[in-house]
Amino acid sequence: MTAACDFSQGAAFVRGEFVPIGQACVPITDWGFLRSDATYDVVTVWEGAFFRLDAHLDRFLASCGRFRLDPGRSRDEITAVLERCVSLARLRRSYVEMIVTRGQPPWGSRDPRQAVNQFYAFAVPYVWIANDEQRQRGLHLRISEVQRIPAASVDPRAKNYHWNDLTMGLLGALDAGADTVVLTDAAGNVVEGPGFNVFAVTGGRLVTPAEGVLEGVTRRTVLEMAHALGIPCEVRALPAAEARAAQEVFLSTSGGGVLPVTRVDGQAVGSGGVGPLTRQLAKTYWDWHADPRYSTPVRYDGD
Ligand code: PLP
Repeated sequence: MTAACDFSQGAAFVRGEFVPIGQACVPITDWGFLRSDATYDVVTVWEGAFFRLDAHLDRFLASCGRFRLDPGRSRDEITAVLERCVSLARLRRSYVEMIVTRGQPPWGSRDPRQAVNQFYAFAVPYVWIANDEQRQRGLHLRISEVQRIPAASVDPRAKNYHWNDLTMGLLGALDAGADTVVLTDAAGNVVEGPGFNVFAVTGGRLVTPAEGVLEGVTRRTVLEMAHALGIPCEVRALPAAEARAAQEVFLSTSGGGVLPVTRVDGQAVGSGGVGPLTRQLAKTYWDWHADPRYSTPVRYDGD
């Protein structure tokens, strides 16, 4: 195999062709790059099967509709591209991203309706948003005063690259010695962080923000698991003070599932260890990966 077709680090689909991840480029004039004018979704592959592929495709197509972006291909065609990226890279555990950008209008036009939207995809090895040590001991979370961009400005239910608030909040949290950050809204409620939703356990009930967040597929999975396990849930505003006083706090993300938080703003959460509900939900999350209702095996070329 020549270096030119070495897919061992991952595979991408760019302008109609499959290329090694290191060779995947977008034109500098694509509004996806110049204006963050894009939507995307991330589905994972675990032990050779997509997890909740249908839920990710539903959300991706809904995001496209909200931002008036056209992937230019059917759901089945999108699935075939994703599967081929995973197969080319021979990845059994993968982070698989699909993207539609605005593209660019003809030279001289600033009319987004005239832009030719572009579809991209790639598969790389599975991405954890917390390292081994953080997953064992629990993450140290900072509640930032940086406000998440308001939902009235950019619809957070459409997955987007408007991440400057998340990145500035994260830099502040890292400077303060925390591992990661959650942003707040104008009323001081906790909303979401860079790549995750947030849950708190208060009075034996799970609480997760209702508004101002991406409706994470993992968040939905947590709510469904809680229902199956008989754990009461409330989807409502989560004031920062309530999150600070919670018995347990955890994050939900396709980048690792249910991730424990054991310190908030420098103070121990509960007894300071990973809480029992967090442990139970984290285990159930991985158990559900073997459930045929949620898993779609990848067909690898040559198998
Ligand atoms: N919120 C934001 C801003 C995200 O970027 C993500 C995932 O990337 C999430 C929440 C969690 O969503 P999911 O559980 O679908 O990975």
